Amino acid sequence: MESSAIILDGKSLSEKIRKEIREEIEGYVQKGYRPPCLAVVLVGEDPPSLVYVKNKRKACESVGIKSLFYHLPHNTNLSELLDLIAELNAREDVDGILVQLPLPNHIPMEEVILAISPKKDVDGFHPENMGRLLGRIEGGFIPCTPLGIDLLLKHYNIELKGKDVAIVGAGFIVGRPLSALLLWRDATVSVCHIHTKDIKKYTLEADILISATGVPHLIKGDMVKEGAVVVDVGISKVGEKILGDVDFEAVKEKAYAITPVPGGVGPMTVSALLLNTLKAYEKKTSLSIQPVIS
Ligand code: NAD
Repeated sequence: MESSAIILDGKSLSEKIRKEIREEIEGYVQKGYRPPCLAVVLVGEDPPSLVYVKNKRKACESVGIKSLFYHLPHNTNLSELLDLIAELNAREDVDGILVQLPLPNHIPMEEVILAISPKKDVDGFHPENMGRLLGRIEGGFIPCTPLGIDLLLKHYNIELKGKDVAIVGAGFIVGRPLSALLLWRDATVSVCHIHTKDIKKYTLEADILISATGVPHLIKGDMVKEGAVVVDVGISKVGEKILGDVDFEAVKEKAYAITPVPGGVGPMTVSALLLNTLKAYEKKTSLSIQPVIS
């Protein structure tokens, strides 16, 4: 049966965004400015992280952002990592710093996030940036996945004002910052998690359902309201397949619009990282800033 739902195509929107970023950077370089630079730090050999880092660096290259790669061994200790971050914070030629998560268990993530200069924190996880997001104080960085989802919904003219949004998954990287961002978009936001008594109660009411748990096919057809917009953030490797949180085949028959996995939120997250890096560069070098979020 043909899909009735609109496919929210993050891949093609990303191509458009990346073309705009590339042209902007070319303009700066033609005027004699150095290109933007992102420092990417990876500790250890976590296989998905290796893939994510490779994709992010490739995306940087495709738009003219220089990327520096620091691949540290698994047994790197906290103070060695903090020394590297201090060095990158101080470097004039580095605009953004990304420490790929998750870190090995012996390194406390909080200490690392706190160490990154908020002005170079293109992941948007530093409390200063998270606080700016909560307070809607201009000038911070919005975490990449929430920013990418917001841009995708905006591109497809999906109204958020007054809508009931259910976010399934309350993680630090996606669910929590996304709930703050969508509240600012005047949505009514419910955030469900592993301890929520009856998730279906919330998902069935939702005009917009966003799942970010990492549980493959958690969201079944009977959990979705007819005509809902469904955004699938989850990425799980099952055998050789990449699966989202949403049972796409069943849900697309009920949804008004749906993101595919892959090709939905994933590329938008990387594009948001490029936008944040460009913003860090423009702020640092006092170039004209095009607001990403209005
Ligand atoms: P996390 O572990 O920090 O949070 C997961 C959340 O899901 C928690 O709040 C947990 O309570 C909830 N949860 C787990 N099992 C559940 C269940 N059975 N029912 C309801 N809630 C449940 O994870 P995260 O970092 O937020 O990532 C979530 C998923 O999103 C992962 O699959 C990750 O790979 C993916 N992700 C994708 C992108 C992207 O660009 N597409 C970016 C970031 C994360």
